[in-house]
Amino acid sequence: MTGTRYWLPTQSAPATSSASAPSSGAFDVEAVRRDFPQLHREVNGHPLIWLDNGATTFKPRQVTEAVGEHYARDASNVHRGAHTLAKQATQVYEEGREEAAKLLGTRDTGEVVFVRGTTEAVNLVAQSWGRANLGVGDEILVSAAEHHSNLVPWQLIAKERRARVVPIPLLPDGQLDQDAYRDLLNNKTKLVALTHASNVLGTVPPVAQMTALAHRWGARVLVDGAQAVSHFPVDVTELDADFYAFSGHKVFAPTGIGVLFGKREILEAMPPWQGGGNMIDSVSFEKTSYAPLPHRLEAGTGHIAGVAGLRAALRYLGTLNRKTATEYEEQLTAYATSALSTVPGLRLLGTAPGKIGVLTFLLADAEPTHLAGLLDQQGIAVRAGHHCAQPALAAYGVTSAVRASLAMYNTVEDVDTLVAALHEAVDA
Ligand code: PMP
Repeated sequence: MTGTRYWLPTQSAPATSSASAPSSGAFDVEAVRRDFPQLHREVNGHPLIWLDNGATTFKPRQVTEAVGEHYARDASNVHRGAHTLAKQATQVYEEGREEAAKLLGTRDTGEVVFVRGTTEAVNLVAQSWGRANLGVGDEILVSAAEHHSNLVPWQLIAKERRARVVPIPLLPDGQLDQDAYRDLLNNKTKLVALTHASNVLGTVPPVAQMTALAHRWGARVLVDGAQAVSHFPVDVTELDADFYAFSGHKVFAPTGIGVLFGKREILEAMPPWQGGGNMIDSVSFEKTSYAPLPHRLEAGTGHIAGVAGLRAALRYLGTLNRKTATEYEEQLTAYATSALSTVPGLRLLGTAPGKIGVLTFLLADAEPTHLAGLLDQQGIAVRAGHHCAQPALAAYGVTSAVRASLAMYNTVEDVDTLVAALHEAVDA
């Protein structure tokens, strides 16, 4: 594929960026790479090849600058105090919420609740909505591709409410078995927990179609968008998702900040899950009333610097042409899939059509952690282990695998370096 307009050289890293210029035509990966300083460091004496984007993404300098400025110049609490810095911090915080609403395709910022990340978002829904809505014998359908954070919170609340967690099985290529899903839905189904993109198989399930089916049975649908939002545009209105969760750090923003989207009427009916400051209207020993959405679900001081970083990250994404970025990633994923298939003894787990650039594999009888260690010696960062998705790996009869996960700033050269190192490992 070298020679197409997508595959640009990776070496140069001039100090100025052109990624913020309005995008036209093809995705300019080099301009984007210039905005991510960490891509240009060395590890173990080699230029770093970052293929652990499924775990976390790097931050563009726009994000690190926004966080730095918050702490160096603009630090203040929000929503309280009449002084200038409190007002400014509040404005940044609420603009961050507006950016998140825009990213997800809702106009109502009351539907955007700040949380620590996807894990906390799911726990919020399980503890608040789940405790109020689940009863004895009710069923929660959870896909077998889920990250533990979209499974264990459901097991916890199911145990408490004496409800049942029922797996939606996988097909051999990593797709969710739609026939089985249709058969599993019934009038006891109260919630369907679905990934929008699997962190271990890369599968992108037909979420809109599955949500429509769930709604026919009166069930709610929670979509885990942790791996989706950085790879393709999302629209919760089109999906008709009842809840949608993502983590900032997987979409070029800081750790410790994430978003739970919930439909207004559902959030309105949910009891607060934590009590404290910021979430109240008035408090007395006799009676306490709560603030309107979204603050009712945000007790305590939030991650203000994190929101400043999230605002910067989402504005940065807004300067890119998402369509061409997605197309670029699709082509890079196809290239990587075909390049990996040249490595003797390599078995790819998850080959569903339309998958994101998550390439999880086993190499002959090489121990995954050992193989990841060999790659690390050459500056290639991949993850090895169970990837917090043990049921998904169990479906393939394995407990551990190596995962290379791509982001929009990876290149064909990154893939070639990985594949050459794997060939060497085989020959050694
Ligand atoms: N869901 C998926 C699909 C993920 O990949 C991850 C992170 N690996 C999570 C949920 C949990 O995200 P966090 O740890 O940021 O809460």
